[in-house]
Amino acid sequence: MQEQFKVLLVEDSRTQALRFQFMLEAHGFEAVVASNGREALEHLKREYFPIIITDWVMPEMDGVELCQTIRSRKYDGYVFIFLVTSKDDPNDIVAGLQAGADDYLTKPVSELELMARLNTAKRIIDLERSLKKRNEEVLHLSVTDALTEVHNRSYFNTQCPSFIARSVRSKKPVSCMICDVDHFKNVNDTYGHLAGDRVLQEFAACLKQQVRQGLDLLVRYGGEEFVFILSDTDSEGSLIAAERMRQSIEQLSIDWEGQTIEITASFGVVTYLPQSIGHLLSVEQLMAAADQALYSAKEAGRNCVRHVTL
Ligand code: GH3
Ligand code: MG
Ligand code: MG
Ligand code: MG
Repeated sequence: MQEQFKVLLVEDSRTQALRFQFMLEAHGFEAVVASNGREALEHLKREYFPIIITDWVMPEMDGVELCQTIRSRKYDGYVFIFLVTSKDDPNDIVAGLQAGADDYLTKPVSELELMARLNTAKRIIDLERSLKKRNEEVLHLSVTDALTEVHNRSYFNTQCPSFIARSVRSKKPVSCMICDVDHFKNVNDTYGHLAGDRVLQEFAACLKQQVRQGLDLLVRYGGEEFVFILSDTDSEGSLIAAERMRQSIEQLSIDWEGQTIEITASFGVVTYLPQSIGHLLSVEQLMAAADQALYSAKEAGRNCVRHVTL
């Protein structure tokens, strides 16, 4: 069964519909029948069909109006439309194609011709699907850090302003923390750069476990610096979260070629209380404050959390 090429057959004549259905099913296509354009649109509301074979003349809504309506709407993928007609006047055919049909079939439709044309439709739909998949992959790559598989800094730059705006709108606090591996240079120097990469992956995976889906954002901000945004989180909540992360990093032991690498991290945390600042806080101001807190944590001897409120 060619499930991925489910065909919506729109035909008011029961005999014609059965004939088409028989041919389609004999070649492994699943066919769903609608008896006019309006009914076809009802089916399309419930489910996406990549291929539609529609009669021209039908009661309630004809094939041309159906084509125009489909082209004015958005679906999960491209809808390839065949208009079936007994009209073979070139003017009619042009009108059908202008209404949005991709191809036309003239009655009586032969099985061989139908299959040949369906193959063309399948090629185009396959092409559209592979382009769509590729676009999704490119989009994913453009917002993801290749080493750690968490979001990257450019994603942070596009998302951070909306976290702040949401906080202002809802009058709820938002917290942001920079997590920086302590003396990471020593890891590279002692175990090599590949070991350093592995440590960053484990570090990111450990932080990732703390992400609350739909509420937080975790990004790799730079080399061994990660940023966590926690929405709807006040000073107390952010301190608890940072302390929990600090401890889980401290407990991490990373196996590397028979040796165990242990690390610690310092946390600079900032909480923004929207009521307390008259104007909208910028991403730069938020990050500068978090950076300052991180600097204090490093100054205080590392492996600790420092917090400021804005
Ligand atoms: P501190 O405790 O003050 O943060 O010291 P540090 O050594 O962690 O900080 P420093 O900024 O001096 O060094 C960061 C190091 O991180 C230097 C750089 O080579 C390394 N680094 C950055 N990106 C990567 C990466 O993708 N892989 C590896 N293996 N190392 C990286
Ligand atoms: Mg008809
Ligand atoms: Mg560091
Ligand atoms: Mg650093």
